[in-house]
Amino acid sequence: MAPQVLIVGAGITGSMLALLAKDMGLSVRVLEKSRGAGGRMATHSFRRGDRSTPILANADLGAQYITTRSSPEHPFLGPLYKRLTDAGILIPFTGEVAGPNPYGAGSDIRHFAAPKGMRSIAEYFLESSSVAVDWGVAVEDLVLSEKEVAVSIGADSPKMADTRANVVVLTQPVLQVLGASKFGMRGSFLAQTDEKVMSALRQVEYSARFAVAYFFDKSEVSWPFSWTCHYFDKGDVRYVAHDTARRGAKDEPFMAVLVHSGVPLGMKLADEEDPFPTAAARMQSELEQKLPELPWAAAEGSKVHKWKYSQVYIGYGGNKPSPSWVWPAGAAEASPAPGCVELFRSDGGLGLLCGDAIAPASNFEGCLYSAYKAAEALRSHFGKCAVTDDLPR
Ligand SMILES: Cc1cc2nc3c(=O)[nH]c(=O)nc-3n(C[C@H](O)[C@H](O)[C@H](O)COP(=O)(O)OP(=O)(O)OC[C@H]3O[C@@H](n4cnc5c(N)ncnc54)[C@H](O)[C@@H]3O)c2cc1C
Repeated sequence: MAPQVLIVGAGITGSMLALLAKDMGLSVRVLEKSRGAGGRMATHSFRRGDRSTPILANADLGAQYITTRSSPEHPFLGPLYKRLTDAGILIPFTGEVAGPNPYGAGSDIRHFAAPKGMRSIAEYFLESSSVAVDWGVAVEDLVLSEKEVAVSIGADSPKMADTRANVVVLTQPVLQVLGASKFGMRGSFLAQTDEKVMSALRQVEYSARFAVAYFFDKSEVSWPFSWTCHYFDKGDVRYVAHDTARRGAKDEPFMAVLVHSGVPLGMKLADEEDPFPTAAARMQSELEQKLPELPWAAAEGSKVHKWKYSQVYIGYGGNKPSPSWVWPAGAAEASPAPGCVELFRSDGGLGLLCGDAIAPASNFEGCLYSAYKAAEALRSHFGKCAVTDDLPR
């Protein structure tokens, strides 16, 4: 039987929504174009051989910390952080941060890291929801019929028995929904979308950057600095972290060091077919000057990743995402962004779009808020009384 809800994308928004929708008693299925969960909260696992060989180290290529200014009494976030820390998915991050930390520090701010890598948060939500996930499935279009929405998938995607649902929720970056880039959707479903929504979506912009993870054998190279993470305000290299220490992952035999480029380098090389050698060479040469204490060229392995859609630079309707946004604990306070928007509605089908571009902040809590708003839309569509009734609206 076709599920009631199809969620496109197993990033943090899609996986949180899967759990919320499942808790509401809905039947849910997730389609994800990659082989694993996490999206922009991706974790790379370094091995010496193929996937059957042991993981020697992990490295978070995208999001680095979960930062919260929320009260532990917040009706949604309080129990969620407790659940994630009780399960060992998140631990408090207390390492030294050097340089101009854009995420702030102070007694009202708590930072968390994920010992097994950021992708483990999305994995935890999916496992807890026990929803079926189809991996390697790239959704290309949504076809509306009288009763349902049918999903059309890429030619390289595995064949699927059911591609229909009552509601489809898209969570991928907005520019992909609008048809840009390799995994862009064809967009016939957007013909139904309200012009005001389209115009607000067209304003969305993302920054771009590169991530490079270096892997060193701990028996040969040790970390020479007191800090765990260092931000830089100039040059191609803007962030360096002892990733293994940041995550408190003492058992990994290799040391992972993670480096993020600045946005200017990401934007400059964003559309090049093979930007990796240039980006890696520029970043390594700068690392050798900035931090000569580490033998960068002696790394046993490295992984270069391009974030074409990194954080949201301009959000839905021109909203400027705010890293210091705090999800109001009360119902009355208005949010600067809707969290979730409707793409189409017919007698049989509903199409929603959510994710960090529709949220007030391009971060973990922005995504949770967005998933929560999508769950509210599902509750209203299916007329269900959700278990989350006491949450802020
Ligand atoms: C370099 C970097 C650093 C960051 N640092 C932080 C940080 O320190 N703290 C923080 O809180 N946030 C940080 N962020 C932001 C945070 O990672 C994002 O806000 C968040 O991960 C967005 O989640 P999402 O689920 O909305 O979207 P995504 O993570 O983009 O998830 C969308 C999913 O949809 C899938 N998909 C795309 N197209 C299709 C298709 N056609 N069919 C099927 N599936 C598809 C993708 O593979 C992906 O898994 C950072 C991001 C980056 C890139």
